[in-house]
Amino acid sequence: MSAEILDGKAAAARLRQSVATGVARRTGGGGRPPGLAVVLVGDNPASQVYVRKKRAQCEEVGMLSRAYDLPGDADQERLLALVDELNADPAIDGILVQLPLPPHMEAQSVIDRIDPAKDVDGFHPVNMGRLALKLPGLRSCTPHGVMKLLEDAGIALAGRDAVIVGQSNIVGRPMALELLNARCTVTICHSRTRDLEARVRGADLVVAAVGRPGFIPGDWIQEGAVVVDVGINRLDSGKLTGDVDFDSARERAGWITPVPGGVGPMTVATLLANTLDAAEARDPL
Ligand code: NAP
Repeated sequence: MSAEILDGKAAAARLRQSVATGVARRTGGGGRPPGLAVVLVGDNPASQVYVRKKRAQCEEVGMLSRAYDLPGDADQERLLALVDELNADPAIDGILVQLPLPPHMEAQSVIDRIDPAKDVDGFHPVNMGRLALKLPGLRSCTPHGVMKLLEDAGIALAGRDAVIVGQSNIVGRPMALELLNARCTVTICHSRTRDLEARVRGADLVVAAVGRPGFIPGDWIQEGAVVVDVGINRLDSGKLTGDVDFDSARERAGWITPVPGGVGPMTVATLLANTLDAAEARDPL
């Protein structure tokens, strides 16, 4: 058996197209374009790549893109003052502060300062809490993007035994809430989980978000399972690879995401969709 590929690049292109249509409808109807402010602190090379992509795609769909680059030694008060300014700016619907922040900054207090109505990353405790309560709100881009990718492929979720490997605030935890809301039976695994192999073997949906190349061997994957690989790891050769051993997992899975070209493009497209949603909620036509 060779798995069907969950093509995130193609699904993200469709999602961007629908966002562009939504933006055009707003501006064509006399509304202002949604505005996204992307804040980068320092010069982390991976962050620079992500930020460049987010800014470029924001412009491509017809949104207002504002770039704020602070030096790596900027103090936290300066960043908080910028967040306050953006919270009050009527042209800005979404504020994204690229993580990780330099070690002298404390990310949670920066996230807490963002107006939840402009928190297009979906990391604010209000938005996480709303997700936990199954209430509408801005939802974290990577897990929400995974849900859109599964939906795009027509994969039914209710009743599945889902195993998530990783329990971070930005991926594992909100992913678990998303899948629970979709009526999966969810197990969250982490570095202290006993017998991870048995848990993965028992799953018909596996989401890997660990950050270790090839961490999940293909022979752990149940025949026909859906495999979503969130991991992005750069090898010494420069090649990007996921947390799942793709070649062997693909022989057993029913569906699998490639890395790159799986979850990554969906994360960025979902950020744009969140920004449009934030604009429509704040400033309906
Ligand atoms: P993170 O904060 O470092 O979390 C890693 C998780 O993996 C932790 O919960 C950790 O458990 C768990 N873990 C570590 N070793 C383990 C082991 N031996 N067995 C089981 N679990 C183990 O990472 P993250 O921010 O969630 O990111 C995870 C990966 O996804 C990274 O490769 C990152 O680059 C990628 N990512 C991709 C996207 C995208 O758009 N595609 C977005 C975000 C992140 P403990 O909590 O017990 O330490």
